[in-house]
Amino acid sequence: MLKHCSLCGRELFFKTLLDGSVEQYCSECNQVFFDTPTPAVIVAVTNAGSILLTRSVGWKHSFWGLVAGYIKSGETAEEAAKREVKEEVGLEIYKIELLRTYTRKERNLLMIGFKAETKSTSIIKSKELEKTTWFKLSEPLPLRPNSISTQIIKKFIRGK
Ligand SMILES: [Zn+2]
Repeated sequence: MLKHCSLCGRELFFKTLLDGSVEQYCSECNQVFFDTPTPAVIVAVTNAGSILLTRSVGWKHSFWGLVAGYIKSGETAEEAAKREVKEEVGLEIYKIELLRTYTRKERNLLMIGFKAETKSTSIIKSKELEKTTWFKLSEPLPLRPNSISTQIIKKFIRGK
């Protein structure tokens, strides 16, 4: 949530709008600041019976997750999915399929879930990642229970 107007820098206050919702407002600019979520993509990258998992630098827990990242201005979610996979692990993805969306309230994110395949398995890891590797889908995965990564793999990759 913002404290100050991003246009003029004045302190924001809460205003009740005509529809009854309460939003942050700058009286100087006559501008309402809606608390909209930040869109991000999360991609289940697979190759044969394996799935690519990553750990970002600085994670304090021991779990792994799927490739994920923010959508840039002017970019579609599909383009963001391709770019994030390319940037983080150096792989081209194809058969990109939109799955469903998820929310992470505590970080105010709207996560757009995809699955995709790769032809190559040779990873070029980015500096943002502590580590990344392929895991066999037939074996238990080191994922946080009920995380979005877990939900996607359970529903769309392993299939129920
Ligand atoms: Zn202002």
